[in-house]
Amino acid sequence: MNMRLVPWQRVIRGLLALVVVSVSAWGAELRLVLLHTNDLHDHVRAGDSRSGGLPYVAGYVRQIRAEGAAVLLVDAGDVTEKGDLVAFRTEGVMTYEAMRRIGYDGVAVGNHDFDDVPPERIRRFEAALGQSLLCLNIVQPDGRPVFTPSRVVERGGLRIALIGMIVPREASKGGLDFKESGAALSREAKRLRAVSDLVVAVCHQSVPKCVEWSRAAPDVDVFVSGHSHQALPEPVVVPETGARVVQAGKYAQWVGRLDLVISTEPRRVVRHEGRLVPMDHGKVEPDETMLAWVSEREAALAPEAGQQLGENPAELDGFAVARLGAEALRRAARADVGFCHPYQVIRDVLPAGRVDVNAVFKAGGDRGREVVVAELTGAEIEAYVNALVSVQREPPEWTGFRVQRAPVPGGGERWSSDLEATRRYRVVLPTIEWETRLLRLADQLRSRDPANPLAARTLVAAKVEVNFTDATVAYLREVVASGDTWPRRAEALVKQREGGRAP
Ligand SMILES: [Zn+2]
Repeated sequence: MNMRLVPWQRVIRGLLALVVVSVSAWGAELRLVLLHTNDLHDHVRAGDSRSGGLPYVAGYVRQIRAEGAAVLLVDAGDVTEKGDLVAFRTEGVMTYEAMRRIGYDGVAVGNHDFDDVPPERIRRFEAALGQSLLCLNIVQPDGRPVFTPSRVVERGGLRIALIGMIVPREASKGGLDFKESGAALSREAKRLRAVSDLVVAVCHQSVPKCVEWSRAAPDVDVFVSGHSHQALPEPVVVPETGARVVQAGKYAQWVGRLDLVISTEPRRVVRHEGRLVPMDHGKVEPDETMLAWVSEREAALAPEAGQQLGENPAELDGFAVARLGAEALRRAARADVGFCHPYQVIRDVLPAGRVDVNAVFKAGGDRGREVVVAELTGAEIEAYVNALVSVQREPPEWTGFRVQRAPVPGGGERWSSDLEATRRYRVVLPTIEWETRLLRLADQLRSRDPANPLAARTLVAAKVEVNFTDATVAYLREVVASGDTWPRRAEALVKQREGGRAP
């Protein structure tokens, strides 16, 4: 089924089509359809909940190209991580290969594609994409850019300059700061203005920050934004410069479409119409070749990904998923206590409807792929929970002990557990939570509150052969086999640990 146009949209399309052929005394007016994505994050499969996924992006792009319009397709970065198991097994390389198949004209570098990514892997990204990634504001010590900063492409009689930008990174890694980045963009846009009809900055950067960069770089006509995962329903026009800023959400859920009418004499955008097109599986035809290619890769690299675990009656949020994950890890590691931090570990909900192994991986499998066990005293465990609650003000998720909460004078709460203070318990948690939450809090407490039980000794943990995906898949299966549902079990786990009076 094709996308249906409502009548007023047809009228606008018709008017735009007329404009294309009109040539006035001031020169020709040309039409361009700018399609854009951002923060695809390894969503190479058809998405859950009947929406999203790169095969649908591919199908939509092919359909628009087939209609005969001049199409430019760009992506504003964060191509890798947080997504499907099969793409993870290729370290994100497969997602770039999918983008080469779709035929992107320019792809910016996102923080997830750059931070802690070895240069060798970035070269594999570029080889799979079949072109260099674009980024102006990461530079070598001598000031030369690390990546290709910009490229000029021709479409529909227009010369279009594409400039890549990333959220400012650490100076030690060659990143320019926000202001320097704006100044560099201004210089590059000015230079390219002279040789092109349209200047597009493809920025892994939020909409408000792109607005600020626009003020610094008035020669940029369009900012394709990313990073903040914002589904911006229509373009923001920067009052001082007239530049349009667009962003298309995340995870291949939408393709942004910006129809532009450009006069060549003088060169400027004279009209625009922008919107987000949802990759709704009921309305967009997928690219069957890409669907088949993804299935083939999955069969070879992640055959377990499509195994069905059951029907989920209601979407589970990050807290519920973390709680089920904590219990799953506790059982798999035969531990007394399991932790799974909802912000540190969990990256996606567990959708309503059919749930497969891939959905569990997307929810927490990447961050939970390494797990440790530590012997901690009851006092240390209780101190960790309180440090999370009072210092970080982020509620933890755990199973294996009960707490009572009591308000403390001056605000906040003190949580006391039913654990024995001096007894040692076997505690399991993802390595990333152990390192970035527990050990870091213990370090902070050593100077701020040396009497805190968490600050008293050097804490050690040992890696175990348990991971979030396998443990959670096994546990979810067990819940189904017992005749229970996952949302009911997630609720029951809360009741089990709220042992005391309400505050
Ligand atoms: Zn992102």
